[in-house]
Amino acid sequence: MFDKPFALEVITPERTVLSTQAVGVSAPGVEGGFQVLFHHAPLLSALEIGRVTVRSADGTEQVYATSGGFLEVRDNKVLLLLETAERLQDIDAQRAEAARDRAQQRLAHRTPDLDIVRAEASLHRALNRLRAVRKS
Ligand code: ATP
Repeated sequence: MFDKPFALEVITPERTVLSTQAVGVSAPGVEGGFQVLFHHAPLLSALEIGRVTVRSADGTEQVYATSGGFLEVRDNKVLLLLETAERLQDIDAQRAEAARDRAQQRLAHRTPDLDIVRAEASLHRALNRLRAVRKS
C-alpha cells in the first residue's frame, strides 16, 4: 500500500520545479522532519530551510536543497510551495560560498542599517546549500 503513487507538485515563485507521481517525500517540518506516503492524512505544515527528498516508484530518489515554505496533503495530492528548491546537481557551490562569506562579513562587521534577520537567513540558505552538496 505504501508504495502506491500519489501526485506531487513542487512550486516556487519562479517556476514549477516538479509535477510528477511519487511514492514518498520527506520534508523538513518546523517541528521536525517527516515523511509523506500514499494515503497520508490531510496536513498543512510549515517547512524550514533544509532538504526535500522525493522517492519515485522505480526506487530512485531526487534530493533538493530547499528554503522555507509549506507542504499540503489532501486526497493523495501533495503540494510543496517553497521559496527556492535546487536539485543537488544544480547547486553552484562557489556561488553559495560567496553568499556565505558575504553574510558572515555583514554579521561580523555590523553597521547600524544592517538587516540582521535577512543576513542570518542568507547565511542559513548558503550553509544549507553547501551542506547538501557535500552530503551528496
Ligand atoms: P545569492 O546571494 O547567491 O543570490 P540567495 O540565498 O540570496 O543567494 P535565493 O534568494 O535563495 O538566493 O535564490 C534566488 C534564486 O537563485 C533561486 O532560484 C535559487 O534557486 C537560486 N540559487 C541561489 N543560490 C544558488 C546556488 N548556490 N546554486 C544554484 N542556484 C541558486
